[in-house]
Amino acid sequence: MGNDILVLAQHQDGAVKKPTLECLSVARALAAATGGKVLAAALGPGAAKAAADLGAWGAASVLVGEGPALAKYSSLRWTRVLAGAVAKQKPAALLTSTSALSRDLAGRLAARINGVLASDCTKLSAAGGRFTLERPILAGRALVTASHGGDRPLVATLRPNVFGAEKPAQAGACATETLEVTEDAADLRVVVKEVATVKSERPELSEAAIVVSGGRSWGSADGFKPVFDLADALGAAPGASRAAVDAGYVPHSMQVGQTGKTVSPVLYIACGISGAIQHLAGMRTSKYIVAINNDPNAPIFKLADYGIVGDEFEVVPALTAEIKKLKEG
Ligand SMILES: Cc1cc2nc3c(=O)[nH]c(=O)nc-3n(C[C@H](O)[C@H](O)[C@H](O)COP(=O)(O)OP(=O)(O)OC[C@H]3O[C@@H](n4cnc5c(N)ncnc54)[C@H](O)[C@@H]3O)c2cc1C
Repeated sequence: MGNDILVLAQHQDGAVKKPTLECLSVARALAAATGGKVLAAALGPGAAKAAADLGAWGAASVLVGEGPALAKYSSLRWTRVLAGAVAKQKPAALLTSTSALSRDLAGRLAARINGVLASDCTKLSAAGGRFTLERPILAGRALVTASHGGDRPLVATLRPNVFGAEKPAQAGACATETLEVTEDAADLRVVVKEVATVKSERPELSEAAIVVSGGRSWGSADGFKPVFDLADALGAAPGASRAAVDAGYVPHSMQVGQTGKTVSPVLYIACGISGAIQHLAGMRTSKYIVAINNDPNAPIFKLADYGIVGDEFEVVPALTAEIKKLKEG
């Protein structure tokens, strides 16, 4: 095992996702401590296009895997390809962001390369030949601090929006290397038939800097409109509690929480959400939490930095109107 830090880039047709830029920023700090280089791997359609950005964000070398064999995501094939890359590059750690993809891939990859998995880290540093990390457990009720050293690579997924992304003032030269990917029938034991991409003008929920979420209290799909209005006024991603999703007001792709998405925005506004532990599990690492609820004893107020006790049907539209006024100027 060497000293390098390998980042698995997550991108959409070559557009590198912001959480990957955070991973590269963390990788640079780790590599400075381990005395290694930052490497990146990009797989799937657009990987070659992604390589330029990865270099600009500090990767000294990018492994690019494209072509028909990687045209669609496949956990088995991606694991095989990445395990091959790890065997060749021998990084001390492989980083990628916490996402649906990494939830599927990271555990399998860690097992395949005899690595050590740390998922959804909220802190990660290196010193004296060891990595030290922090990650939430028990639906966010406790934080574990763990340390790892030795000769097995660390596979860490990093929670988006927690670490921050800082572009290097000057990036060095970046080499690209093409990964030769062969078809292997054994990869087809599991086949991804379709990746349904939700097209939206709004920011992606798990990457957004501001999230405005609504709960069951909005009463119906139409009733939920003020939540979208406030989100749009702020340029935020709209989210929801599971109760709102189960009631059919909004799609599951908007659910925040233990069985939904994990978000960690700078600002999280919870409108008529009680603050059940399963909801908090998905948003408690938000930097600033604002709760709007007509029950002063709602559990969400225990976590909130700012609370408004009032009727959401009055407070939320009033807030939207004020924000629009401020923006107009
Ligand atoms: C295994 C499991 C997994 C789960 N996963 C998730 C998950 O991923 N995400 C999630 O969110 N939940 C999850 N849940 C459900 C969770 O336990 C709660 O039931 C859910 O979060 C409640 O949603 P809510 O706050 O919208 O609804 P409620 O609990 O009904 O709360 C509504 C809130 O709105 C307030 N309110 C009502 N009217 C107004 C008004 N006019 N103005 C202002 N405030 C008002 C009320 O005071 C109340 O606090 C899970 C549960 C289980 C068992």
